[in-house]
Amino acid sequence: VFDASGHRLYVNRAAERMAGPGIRQALVAGATTEVAAEVRHAGRAVSRQLEASGRPPRSFVLEGHPLDGQTLVIIRDMTGFSQLENVRRDFVANVSHELRTPIGAISVLADALAGSPAADDAQRLAQRIRSEVDRLSDLVSNLLDLSRIEALRPEIGGPPVDLAGVAAEAVDCVRHLSRNANVAIELESPAEDVRLPGDRAQLLSAITNLLDNAVKYSDPGQSVRVTVTHSPAGGAVVEVADQGIGIPSRDLDRVFERFYRTDRSRRRYSAGSPGGTTPGGTGLGLSIVRTVAENHGGTVHVESREGEGSTFRIELPGSFT
Ligand code: ADP
Repeated sequence: VFDASGHRLYVNRAAERMAGPGIRQALVAGATTEVAAEVRHAGRAVSRQLEASGRPPRSFVLEGHPLDGQTLVIIRDMTGFSQLENVRRDFVANVSHELRTPIGAISVLADALAGSPAADDAQRLAQRIRSEVDRLSDLVSNLLDLSRIEALRPEIGGPPVDLAGVAAEAVDCVRHLSRNANVAIELESPAEDVRLPGDRAQLLSAITNLLDNAVKYSDPGQSVRVTVTHSPAGGAVVEVADQGIGIPSRDLDRVFERFYRTDRSRRRYSAGSPGGTTPGGTGLGLSIVRTVAENHGGTVHVESREGEGSTFRIELPGSFT
């Protein structure tokens, strides 16, 4: 609160922290004084945004109001909100971009189909349209899975889930893919049950996504191993290990981000796609896996070497809150 001649009368503790000693704070304090002066001059409320660089950069909104001859300035730290807003904007941009690529291809292919009298050509173009449509449908169903999983934290106290049973069902889900790719899947689980409180559908989706990747990024003749074990802390560990192309160390931190794909996986699948330009996966599988692990109070980690294979490890606690 400032008096009529611009002297500070009162500062609460939060404002003290934001506008106290320090370089960034000096910036906030300076802007606060300026806003107060503007309010006195204009005789009405004033609002201003302030971006303060530094690590991490912070964003503030300052609101000045006339108050019985004095001036009240409210400083709001909007950093968390701005970060969320950036994530949202990136997400919308990514989704639009991912949708536009196959839609553009379908449009070109449909024009070609319309102008192509030869039955052979028509057949080939129709097949390419089909595979772009499949890609769109994968993308949309992954997005729906992700939003469902992000919205629903599993029920605590529901019936315990038999993890080895879930892993066996996940192996069944990718059986068709693994046969076609000639990649064998071995499942190892302990004799006694590994049961955990959790959401069966979410856990199935996580393990299926890991298996789907392990098969996709392996070469014919290689094999994938799924292991379910008890963890010493009373929880469980699910490991999916492959001998496939591996992940470059520079990408390891990023593969769990939405839409992130390594260059190599883009190249690997571009050859088989119509026109040779469409990248293979959607880049959403591992973000689904990470969300499911976190929903259960657990974690997921990866160890990988290029050309030697990857091991993904989901660790789940015995109980979660
Ligand atoms: P995608 O649908 O592209 O597979 P994911 O989110 O499941 O998306 O994976 C992100 C990226 O991580 C993949 O594009 C691929 O580059 C890499 N990746 C994931 N799993 C494996 C694996 N088992 N082996 C090698 N690379 C992998």
